[in-house]
Amino acid sequence: NNNRRPIVAGNWKMNGNLALVKTMQQSISSIELDNVDIVVCPPAVYINAFDAPDLLTGAQDISLFEAGAHTGDISAGMFAELGCQFVIVGHSERRTDHSESNELVAKKASAALEQGLTPIVCVGEPLQVREAGQVFDYVAEQLDAVISTIGVERLSELVIAYEPVWAIGTGQSATPEQAQDVHRFIREHLAKADSEAGMRIRILYGGSVNARNASALFAQADVDGGLIGGASLKQDEFLAICQSA
Ligand code: PEP
Repeated sequence: NNNRRPIVAGNWKMNGNLALVKTMQQSISSIELDNVDIVVCPPAVYINAFDAPDLLTGAQDISLFEAGAHTGDISAGMFAELGCQFVIVGHSERRTDHSESNELVAKKASAALEQGLTPIVCVGEPLQVREAGQVFDYVAEQLDAVISTIGVERLSELVIAYEPVWAIGTGQSATPEQAQDVHRFIREHLAKADSEAGMRIRILYGGSVNARNASALFAQADVDGGLIGGASLKQDEFLAICQSA
C-alpha cells in the first residue's frame, strides 16, 4: 500500500469498563506487531487508565473550543495532555445524535491539529444516497468542508475513515470492491488539492469489520486499515483484525 503504515483503530463508543481496559491492554501488549498502528478509542473517562507505552489512544470526539464555559465538553488540549495521539471527528453517530454539520466537523479537525492530535475524520453516505448514486458527491462535500477549513498545507496530517452509514453496526459490511471504489475516489479527490497528501494520507474503512472480512478489505490498494466498532470490544477478534492489517 505505497508505504502507508496501516492503522487499526477501535472505537468503543459508549461501551466498556475498567476491566475491559485491563484485559485489552494486556492482550494488545502481548502481541508483537511492527507493521500496524493500533489505536484504542475508549470513552474519555477511561483513557487515563491505559498505561501501555506502545499503545496509542484516541478520543471519540472533542470540543471545537480550547477552554471556557462549555459544560460537559472536553478539549483537544486536555486529551493531548493525557497522552492521546488521535481523535475521531465527525463519526456518523455524532452527526446524527448531535446534529454535527460538515462545518462543525471541520472546525473540530482544526482544533485537533492545533493541539497536535491527529484527527480521524469520518465520512460516508447513508443508504438513500448510495441508492441514488450520489456517493462521490456526498463524500466530496464532507471532505471539502475539512480541506477548506484546515487549509491544504495541513491536509497530509489527517487520517480519513470511510464509513458508509448503512454498514455501521449492521453486520452488513461494504464489499472490498465497494470500499476500494470510494477509497480510490477519496484519495484522488485529496490529491487534487495536494498530490503529496493524496499519496500519504491513510484512509481507513469502517462498517461491520470483523475477523472474517478484515483481510479482504485491508488487501485493497487504497484501504490502509480500519475503524472498528463492535468487534473492538472483543479482545480475540480485535487482535485478529490487527493481525490482518
Ligand atoms: C464505527 O462505529 O466506527 C463502526 C465501524 O462500527 P461497527 O464496526 O460496529 O460497524
